Amino acid sequence: MSTNRTASEERRAQILELLKHADTPLTGKEIGERTGVSRQIVVGDINLLKAVDEPIVATSRGYMYMNDSEGSGQIERIAVCQHAANQTEEELTIFVDHGVTVKDVRVEHPVYGDLTASIMVANRMEVKEFLDKITASNAVYLSALSDDHTHLHTVMADSEKQLDRAFEALRKAGILVE
Ligand SMILES: [Zn+2]
Repeated sequence: MSTNRTASEERRAQILELLKHADTPLTGKEIGERTGVSRQIVVGDINLLKAVDEPIVATSRGYMYMNDSEGSGQIERIAVCQHAANQTEEELTIFVDHGVTVKDVRVEHPVYGDLTASIMVANRMEVKEFLDKITASNAVYLSALSDDHTHLHTVMADSEKQLDRAFEALRKAGILVE
């Protein structure tokens, strides 16, 4: 059996290394520039890497490798939220201001069932980048795809107390569904 790797295998190994060592999410364009291929080829490579269970998530800010160490010690909770599209910034800001990272959003779509999208915002700058990206690309908020805008966020923080405080603030803002 040959141990020679093909050029595309080499490239995928290189992409994995880039993602594992990146401090910030890397866009398909950035990865393409560093590996000498088009963004389209990077997207294909990422799909193949995901297919072999590499923990890569695509966010609005780029691809991230979910290191085990990254999630260690963090407590996860699911928030059921409902708010108008123009309250998204308020909602995400409440989370991050309480030291809570918003991992993803999930909605129940009338046709497709559960849809999940990675968000991965941990501070105001990342919230702003996320919202700017949505505006710039004319994308719809996933919450707009559910019947009544109800959506679930997986959130995480270092302590239960941070999560409790964030949930309390969301309750006051009328965003939390209970
Ligand atoms: Zn939300």
